[in-house]
Amino acid sequence: MKNKGILVVVSGFSGAGKGTLMKALLEKYDNYALSISATTRKPRAGEVHGREYFFVEKETFESMIKGDQLIEYAQYVKHYYGTPKEYVLQKMEEGKDVILEIEIQGALKVKEKYPDTLLLFVMPPSAMELRRRLVGRGTETADVIEARLKRAAKEAEGMESYDYILINDDVDTCVEEMHHLIQSQHHKAAYHLDFMRQMEEELNRL
Ligand code: 5GP
Repeated sequence: MKNKGILVVVSGFSGAGKGTLMKALLEKYDNYALSISATTRKPRAGEVHGREYFFVEKETFESMIKGDQLIEYAQYVKHYYGTPKEYVLQKMEEGKDVILEIEIQGALKVKEKYPDTLLLFVMPPSAMELRRRLVGRGTETADVIEARLKRAAKEAEGMESYDYILINDDVDTCVEEMHHLIQSQHHKAAYHLDFMRQMEEELNRL
């Protein structure tokens, strides 16, 4: 029953563990492609251009906007982040389920453009646990952590726009839940209109 890949947005507060989840999901299953975003923020220690992000200057980012090369873009804590269009459309055409790990403003724009997009929201087991993870990561200054927690409180208001929420308590469990949710989407009637038409015609000819 599988033909074109589906588009999946995964959002969640900074520190909810999306990065770890995505890595585990992609290692375990080979039917996914993870979109790599462009951003104007500076790389963190260990991040590689073209792997975590395409790290670009503001001018380059703005020319990508002008050239209609992004599916969506948003500003997040003072920086631009956006999804390059070409890779996403090509991978979906190849039958891969494409995952965008993006924040909420972008998620809503994608849903508007592509209404069949599946929106998933990853949550930590509690707010205290979120703070603990952000501090424990040790990659951000106290100011940035405060800004990200404030942003989380604001993003929490938009969680209801998502199709499903996932609690990331145990990574393996959460990966399995995510995989099953995504794969079950392939059975949606809306993705199989051609097959249904064909069946209808064949039945009429019997
Ligand atoms: P970080 O700086 O922690 O890598 O990412 C900050 C936020 O930006 C995260 O919520 C992440 O999901 C989001 N983000 C990453 N790439 C994109 C993108 O292409 N578009 C949008 N709208 N958000 C993004």
